[in-house]
Amino acid sequence: MTDVVVDSLYVVSAVLFVLSLKFMADVRTSRAGNFCGVAGMMVAIGATLRAYQTQNIELLVGAVIVGVVLGSPIGLKVAMTAVPQRTAMSHAFGSLAVALVGAAEYYRSAPGIDAFTLSVLSGEMVLGFLTFTGSTIAFAKLQGLISGKPLLYRGRIYVSMGTLAVAVAASVYLVANPGQGTALLVLAGAALLFGFLLVIAIGGADMPTVIAILNSFAGISAAALGFVLDNRLLIVAGTLDGSSGLILGIIMSRAMNRSFTNILFGGVGATTTSSPGADSRVAQTYTAEDVATILRYARSVIIAPGYGMAVAQAQHAVKELADALQARGTDVKYAIHPVAGRMPGHMNVLLAEAQVPYEQLWEMDKVNPLFPGTDVSVVVGANDVTNPAARTRADSPLYGMPILDVDKARTVVFIKRSMGPGFSGVDNDLFYLPNTMMVLGDAKKVLTDLLAAMRNLKD
Ligand code: NAP
Repeated sequence: MTDVVVDSLYVVSAVLFVLSLKFMADVRTSRAGNFCGVAGMMVAIGATLRAYQTQNIELLVGAVIVGVVLGSPIGLKVAMTAVPQRTAMSHAFGSLAVALVGAAEYYRSAPGIDAFTLSVLSGEMVLGFLTFTGSTIAFAKLQGLISGKPLLYRGRIYVSMGTLAVAVAASVYLVANPGQGTALLVLAGAALLFGFLLVIAIGGADMPTVIAILNSFAGISAAALGFVLDNRLLIVAGTLDGSSGLILGIIMSRAMNRSFTNILFGGVGATTTSSPGADSRVAQTYTAEDVATILRYARSVIIAPGYGMAVAQAQHAVKELADALQARGTDVKYAIHPVAGRMPGHMNVLLAEAQVPYEQLWEMDKVNPLFPGTDVSVVVGANDVTNPAARTRADSPLYGMPILDVDKARTVVFIKRSMGPGFSGVDNDLFYLPNTMMVLGDAKKVLTDLLAAMRNLKD
């Protein structure tokens, strides 16, 4: 039975989802994007409650209440730096829900279910179950509950692919024999195991990209379930989710110059990579006062922020330093690497929060030619995205990744807490270059000290 109100609300909801993605693509309109996404979901929930009001409405309302009670604190209290693992957890819940609804639909309709519907259902259950365990492992790695190192062993690709083959074979068998419910259990078990094996063999550094790929799996499985349940909104929302996750994964892997195959099966990150002779090299460490003297005479400064700025919540201190420099007539720009931080746009969001004018943010391709003519580059808690090994060391896991050419400025000020490597575990040669001044400490504290030291300098 068609309900014009429900169908109309579904259209409104779908339009709001599309607008949400459109607005999210730009920092200046991202709040509107967030609003549209929330509004679209509220309309979708309202329409669904109306559409299924004759069937156990109390169960639906109960599910909404449980979701709100569990989801609100997760949404409100999770730190910005933990958003990737929070996203992994929501994919885990979403994909498990899709897989379980698919299984329920099978038990409701079998054995009279037609072959086409059952093949779609089987495919979505395989994707849903593997996304559940894959996302749970991604969450555990990013949250530090288990080691971020890839679990590597001989023949792991054959074991993983063999497990996937069992899941696919069980799906085919189920389609041919719809009454054989045991095949569904085999399908579910093999898909769950495959998700686990796939992600446990991937290093923690690749988890954000893996999450984007799993996001696309979850979306595709939701869209497939929409076909089975004849729910058009689920088809639209699942397709948007699936395609945006895929596009995000492509953007991230391009920015790292890596292929999906390399990310999923390369086992990158098993070891911490140091450069030849690394042990004997000595970095030069300086104080905030030393750096203040250098900055005082700088005519041009480029600030390169990274994950450490997010950890230290140093974006406001960065802006204050930039303001102080600009007040002295120094030209200040911010260099934004597409995968600085832990998610695309991470730096843009933090700097926008600190009211940094959008025109001062320079994308990598545009800012890189400017480094050779720049007096000082100030690296604030970035590491991998500045590592020259990406340009020079063919044996480095970072080789080929486009980086910010901060080392080409006359002086590099590097602010971080220790000499440790970044997310990828690769030692950074930049620490030891003669034009690099290492200032060790929490980014917010160092920048605050630096600002105070600059103010104390007499003209
Ligand atoms: P990074 O390589 O992880 O380095 C961040 C640095 O920040 C660390 O070396 C750390 O050194 C320092 N740090 C941490 N807390 C700090 C604090 N409180 N104060 C000062 N420094 C602090 O970060 P990145 O250069 O931004 O590179 C991003 C990495 O994530 C890349 O490897 C990228 O491929 C990966 N990734 C990103 C995305 C994305 O979408 N953004 C997606 C996939 C992968 P100390 O511990 O010594 O302080």
